[in-house]
Amino acid sequence: MISYNRVIDLTQPIVPEQGARPFAIERGRTEELTDHVPVDHDWYIMHRVETISHIGTHIEAPYHCIPDGRDLGSIPVEQFVGEAVVLDLSKLPQDSLVGAAEIAAVAEQAGGVNEGDIVFLRTGYVDLQDNPAFEHRPSPTAEAMKWLVERGVKLLGTDLSGLEGPLTPGHLDCHLVLLGADIPFIENLANLDQLSQPRVFVCALPIPVQGLDAFPLRVVAFE
Ligand SMILES: [Zn+2]
Repeated sequence: MISYNRVIDLTQPIVPEQGARPFAIERGRTEELTDHVPVDHDWYIMHRVETISHIGTHIEAPYHCIPDGRDLGSIPVEQFVGEAVVLDLSKLPQDSLVGAAEIAAVAEQAGGVNEGDIVFLRTGYVDLQDNPAFEHRPSPTAEAMKWLVERGVKLLGTDLSGLEGPLTPGHLDCHLVLLGADIPFIENLANLDQLSQPRVFVCALPIPVQGLDAFPLRVVAFE
């Protein structure tokens, strides 16, 4: 039995028609959107939703970058729940390249990374998106991702909209290591600063849509 006294929502809310990426909802009566027989009730609605797969807090499956990689419908649910360790990159100097040695050091501060862990990379730069300081955020490298893969992590997450930073040599360096190793990852996590301990129990559950590369999901931590 897992006991907890606090649930922390690590999910960004989505507000339709706001933000840089499209998320549109169109309201209609159920019989307009489906083959429902009209019912005698003034307010019996559904929505049509139009968006792209990478919006808000979302998870990326191997299929995003690997043609024969697993899609969202092919990943077992066990991979989305378990203990998460939060690696705190927020104290690193500005313009840090985060290689294997740097990730090992922050992992040690968090008590280590174990086989089967979920790993969250907290940069603390999430509130600086429109600030020049944002350009100085940490830049994880392929070597850092390989170090995590070698530890046996099963899922990764970050508070930023991308794993790679401005100094990461290649645009997809981190993507390709993780997804190539069959490890999905989450972008745009929220509220990592609300966690009071470096190790928490997490549920990060996407809808298992067959043939889809990515999708928004709800991520919650239990303390
Ligand atoms: Zn994405």
